[in-house]
Amino acid sequence: MHIKQIPIRNDLRNYMYLLACEKTLEAIAVDPLDHALCLETANEMGWKIKIVANTHHHHDHIGGNDQVIAATGAELVAHEDAMDAIPGVNRGLNAGDDLQCGDLTLKVMDTPGHTMSHICLYFPSSTDEEPALFCGDTLFNAGVGRCDFGGDPIILHKTFEDHIFPLGDNVRIYPGHDYIENNLEFTLDREPNNQSAISLRDKFKNGLDAESFVSHIGLEREINVFFRINEAQVRAGIASSLNLDEASLDSQETFIGLRKLRDSW
Ligand SMILES: [Zn+2]
Repeated sequence: MHIKQIPIRNDLRNYMYLLACEKTLEAIAVDPLDHALCLETANEMGWKIKIVANTHHHHDHIGGNDQVIAATGAELVAHEDAMDAIPGVNRGLNAGDDLQCGDLTLKVMDTPGHTMSHICLYFPSSTDEEPALFCGDTLFNAGVGRCDFGGDPIILHKTFEDHIFPLGDNVRIYPGHDYIENNLEFTLDREPNNQSAISLRDKFKNGLDAESFVSHIGLEREINVFFRINEAQVRAGIASSLNLDEASLDSQETFIGLRKLRDSW
């Protein structure tokens, strides 16, 4: 699979993606907010956009749909339950569906929580390529999506338990926003001695480009505090910050507590 990660550099620091079949050069545009940049990039690469895929219905993920489709005739796909919220969807997707473009096949994952109708697109490994996850606003580098715009942190936690935590360490992460530096600071606020988070933060401070940095699940297990809800320090921290009884705090309540703190952090 050819992957082009395109940072938009707007206030919300959205990423959009072009994913192309290596043989046919037919491409899927994921959340193409900046339509001009999306079309220009596809043109530069010599790729033909056949499908526009939205991870969810928020405006910063669907805003460029119409113009990209007008220019390419692409088919619009999204979660079946998001079809009312996204104008012009041609095909609704469900858990386990294949999204096919040329010889490229992505698996559809149903990942509610940030919104109640959110998909991630999963690329299984091939002979010469590690797996990859295009995860919209479900999972960010070193963080997770917020739940106060139509979502639910209990459901998001379940999505992580069922679908995200079990992923292999080698799965590359391609999120909907570039929030890694802020998110690392939040992890360090909760775990000041987290050596992996300290080391990555220092690399960014010393010039490593955060915008083009691609994380993987193995690294997320170390630097993303939402993966670390069973760590004693994280649990104790949630109990003391939110005035809860540490002994009765479970992983779900810890996850929800982290999300609550992050909302106003
Ligand atoms: Zn969103």
